[in-house]
Amino acid sequence: MTRRILVAGAGLSALRTVEQLRTAGWSESITVVGAEPHPPYNRPPLTKEALRGGIDPDALRFPHRSSISDVEWRLGRRVDGVDLRSRRATLDDGEMLTYDGLVVATGVRSRTLRLDGPPRHRIRTVDDAQRLRRELIPGARVTVIGAGFIGCEVAATAAGLGCVVTVVEPLETPLRVAVGRLVGDELRRRHEQQGVRSRLGRSVVRLDGDVVLDDGSRVGTDVVVEAVGSVPNVEWLDGNGLDLSDGVLCSSDLHPVTASGPVTEVVAVGDVVRFPNPRFGATSLRIEHWTMCGDTARHAAVSLVAGLNGGSSERPEFAPLPTFWSEQFGTRLQSFGVPGLGLDDVRVLEGDLRDECAVGYHRDGVLVGVVLLGLRTRMMQFRQLLVDATQLAGQR
Ligand SMILES: Cc1cc2nc3c(=O)[nH]c(=O)nc-3n(C[C@H](O)[C@H](O)[C@H](O)COP(=O)(O)OP(=O)(O)OC[C@H]3O[C@@H](n4cnc5c(N)ncnc54)[C@H](O)[C@@H]3O)c2cc1C
Repeated sequence: MTRRILVAGAGLSALRTVEQLRTAGWSESITVVGAEPHPPYNRPPLTKEALRGGIDPDALRFPHRSSISDVEWRLGRRVDGVDLRSRRATLDDGEMLTYDGLVVATGVRSRTLRLDGPPRHRIRTVDDAQRLRRELIPGARVTVIGAGFIGCEVAATAAGLGCVVTVVEPLETPLRVAVGRLVGDELRRRHEQQGVRSRLGRSVVRLDGDVVLDDGSRVGTDVVVEAVGSVPNVEWLDGNGLDLSDGVLCSSDLHPVTASGPVTEVVAVGDVVRFPNPRFGATSLRIEHWTMCGDTARHAAVSLVAGLNGGSSERPEFAPLPTFWSEQFGTRLQSFGVPGLGLDDVRVLEGDLRDECAVGYHRDGVLVGVVLLGLRTRMMQFRQLLVDATQLAGQR
């Protein structure tokens, strides 16, 4: 009888895993169940060029290789629950699907604040972006709650479209957790230079048409965008003895771990997976970067095929280098490694902070992250610098 791999989620990491399963020799059945009605599409443009120019879902779709033409896609369907022991998944219409192998690719959703009041925008899906784009008309007063990457990109794009933008953030510096005070303050300066107003160190307490802050002040608002982080989509895995405290905790082969060891017929990929990366010490990390989808897919597909065929996959340690980019007001920010691990020791490595520069983040004196503002032609050199600094013990 033909065996089946079930993929839960139909985003980039699902697509890349399906491709890699074929590359790894899996010629049997694959079924993908995705909650959104759309086939896999590219999310980064939703806050950048697509939000600027107009959202066209077809233009954002990833092309499908011929090697995956026989994959079954069930879109607009959600996996509601799974029993890992009997290898059965239940869909939102009550259908039960049995499987031999399972890929967890359910990503994350936008976090929401507990605030009453009129509806506000969030931006995770193409449908979210389409709704928001309709309201970004010149002169519209836009308040962005949260100064992480999504919030800062939306603020920059909205200001570029002629909106009057205010960013509200409880910390004193935008992007503080991701890139620290030095780079965060410089990005604030660039935003303010382009007319974005900042209300830093302030929280939103009420929405009553305006946005009301914790010092009692009000921000006159037509459009509210809430960009306060993400929540991993893991509830459907409850009851299986997994560690779901921040995504799905996995072994270095990307198999979820239980008290009795890794579940070798299951892998997790993309934004939802948390795994040990020996480049950065013992702590397991969950990283929401576009490139991590491809990295984890490649590794997980080999692990899963080996698990299903009763073999083991003897490979070098899985130690991908996190890589992330952002664009705000024409500034290209490029990040390598995990700058957030080195916020106590931040040094400008090259260039001028107010222009183009490379900034290094160190932990115990060792480089663990690099952020470039501009300096595009030097990208590969700085990437290599970090690869060398974080090389694995066995390679030293
Ligand atoms: C607006 C935006 C801008 C970004 N910009 C950048 C950038 O500039 N650079 C960068 O490196 N990264 C960026 N990212 C991050 C990058 O897009 C993500 O890392 C990537 O999309 C993660 O892919 P994924 O497949 O793991 O998860 P997702 O893309 O979240 O896909 C998961 C899919 O699973 C579905 N799903 C959830 N639960 C279930 C269920 N129970 N059953 C079935 N389906 C389910 C979801 O609806 C979703 O469609 C950005 C993300 C966003 C949202």
